[in-house]
Amino acid sequence: MEMTELAMAVIAGDRRALARAVTRVESTRPDHRTQAVELVAQARAAGRQALRIGLSGTPGVGKSTFIEAFGMMLVAQGLRVAVLAVDPSSARSGGSILGDKTRMERLSREPAAFIRPSPSQAQMGGVARRTREAVALCEAAGFDVVLVETVGVGQSETVVAEICDLFILLLAPAGGDELQGVKRGIMEMADMILVNKADGDLKPAAMRTRADYAGALHLLRRRPQDPEGFPKAVCVSAVENDGLAEAWVDMQALAGWRREHGHWHSRRAHQARHWFGEEVRRGLLSVLDREPAKGSMAALGAQVEAGELSPEAAAVQMLALLGRH
Ligand code: GDP
Repeated sequence: MEMTELAMAVIAGDRRALARAVTRVESTRPDHRTQAVELVAQARAAGRQALRIGLSGTPGVGKSTFIEAFGMMLVAQGLRVAVLAVDPSSARSGGSILGDKTRMERLSREPAAFIRPSPSQAQMGGVARRTREAVALCEAAGFDVVLVETVGVGQSETVVAEICDLFILLLAPAGGDELQGVKRGIMEMADMILVNKADGDLKPAAMRTRADYAGALHLLRRRPQDPEGFPKAVCVSAVENDGLAEAWVDMQALAGWRREHGHWHSRRAHQARHWFGEEVRRGLLSVLDREPAKGSMAALGAQVEAGELSPEAAAVQMLALLGRH
């Protein structure tokens, strides 16, 4: 009952209700989890879709500067913008990438914007689920664009790409002519590469970096979900607001093309299936942390440690026990 009211307030576009709902999906308490699942199901039933844009970049490339400028531009166009962060490192570093209140100060004051830092949760699985559910809540609340920001650590880009409709890589101009060690897998996920800081003294380097990446992208096989000219690399300057409008036109063109050709829908359908599998895997693993499996693990583990059972034989026994639980 309480959840239905909260879901209705979220769907009505109440930002405080949205913040409360996101807090609920971030909670790991079992009773909260049950409520969160119900809440997200009710939110999804509203049937609204935002354009989900994943944005990745190493610290210092200008993510928050870009998101603030880009977000302000979208708000000026009458769009509602939500910003969420995926930051699996936040638990370790003690802060979150959006935790610093001075980040995106202007955007955070906009009534048409909603900014939510990453919770301090170390486990990637937990962060992924929370982000997915928070995205669904933002969509239900009527946001037109949901930006999901991540620092390039570990699996976080893959997770963000599996949540979003578009995946954008933000880079800074390289010093020399070397590519900035961007892994091939990340390049393959990118729909657009934005080389930021293309202003002042950095402009020539930004242009060279852009050309290098455009060449590298060209070498990748063209994907069926891309129209001519994508994936592409362009220069932007977040501080000078340069190239942002053009990048937005490109993003809309790409999203529109995918919608028309069925790729939008099939990508979301594929993502939903992927996350279903992940949730089941996660659930199965969590069985090991609860009784009676927890006790059996401890008992068999002790026997393995004492040399009474081989690791393999103990695992066979354990799996047989699990089958019976
Ligand atoms: P983040 O760590 O990726 O979020 O990066 P920030 O947005 O905090 O920016 C890091 C630094 O780069 C700051 O000093 C910004 O002022 C600077 N910066 C960001 N965007 C630009 C840009 O377009 N041009 C220039 N010259 N500097 C920028």
